[in-house]
Amino acid sequence: MVSMLNQSAYQNTTRLRQRLSRITLSIRRSQLDMGVVDKPFSVNDYDFYEGGRIYRRKKIILAAPGCTAATCTMCPIPNEAFYGLRLKLTAEDFLQQFNAAFSSDPLDSYQLISVYNSGNWFASKEIPSLARQHIYQAIAGSHCEGLMVESLPQFITPQLMEEARTHLGNKRLIVAIGLQSANDTVRNVCVNTTCTREQFERASHLLWEYGYTARAYLMVKPPFLTEQEAVDDTVASIRYVAELGYEDVSICPTRIAPYTLAAELARRNLFTAPSLWTIVDILTIAHTICNIRVTCLDLDGKDGDTLYPRTCPSCTHTLLTALQAYNVHHDLLTIAALDCSCRDEQRAEMKRQEKRSLPDRVSDFLEQYNAEMSVE
Ligand code: SF4
Repeated sequence: MVSMLNQSAYQNTTRLRQRLSRITLSIRRSQLDMGVVDKPFSVNDYDFYEGGRIYRRKKIILAAPGCTAATCTMCPIPNEAFYGLRLKLTAEDFLQQFNAAFSSDPLDSYQLISVYNSGNWFASKEIPSLARQHIYQAIAGSHCEGLMVESLPQFITPQLMEEARTHLGNKRLIVAIGLQSANDTVRNVCVNTTCTREQFERASHLLWEYGYTARAYLMVKPPFLTEQEAVDDTVASIRYVAELGYEDVSICPTRIAPYTLAAELARRNLFTAPSLWTIVDILTIAHTICNIRVTCLDLDGKDGDTLYPRTCPSCTHTLLTALQAYNVHHDLLTIAALDCSCRDEQRAEMKRQEKRSLPDRVSDFLEQYNAEMSVE
């Protein structure tokens, strides 16, 4: 009886995931200029804080075919790639882009380089191994201390760790892995990622065996969750990664970007980005479990197409600045002392209960979406 129930839940999850994937993939749009393959999508210099120190870092987002597992409901990253265009980029194309990022300041003037391909660094369908090897060699031959990349865990294999060790020498390799949530329903259905906990655990241990750094990334309030569920989910996920051996974790408040399923939900008033007060609540509860870094904050306000987590106009800037300072000093007292009259709205929102299960909420949205599409 139990196994029949499990089987039926599994089939229901699989059906929901297939339907979510169809919609998510169908609404994606590439934001890259067609044919521009000789320079990166973007290059920015940011400080990176880790282990009590600041690294001078260059962050390069390559113009690339992008994520081959682009089913995540909230994620705009594949849209920053040649999504759906079937472009075949060569290792030389990627190297040209990498070199173009250092046209003004040489590689030697940075302590850390992040190279992102809007997807998975270790997926050879997304970036050829020759490009990876040349970029490793460039870092190995420089004064730079290391390289930071991101990847789903299923692409992180012993062979590719050997490749890194051979070409990167004794430089650091930091790999960001988007677990998103330790909760299977939240991760499999609400986020609809292909990342499993088993793969995450295996890849983390493999990276540690090679002396590399794994960084876990969690979403705060993925689609379909309420504000209170977001706090509970993120705190439980932080606890899970800490128990696995992580000392640092990055939490990413969900933004609502165009051409994502999250934007479709928001357009129907079925989803809002988390309040910045919710991030304060998470830090207050979980700051002793792990070193927490808050990422994806809208500090420069340049991305006008995306709805970022906010509070009211009079305190948003203060909170963003305080959260950024928290990333450096981990001083909870400054965060805990913050207040504003708008906090009552978030407290009221925290009390809002949603009686439907997460799969039922997803199912209801899919029915609504499909009904609207069949009318149009
Ligand atoms: S979160 Fe990662 S795996 Fe999911 S679509 Fe975005 S880039 Fe791909």
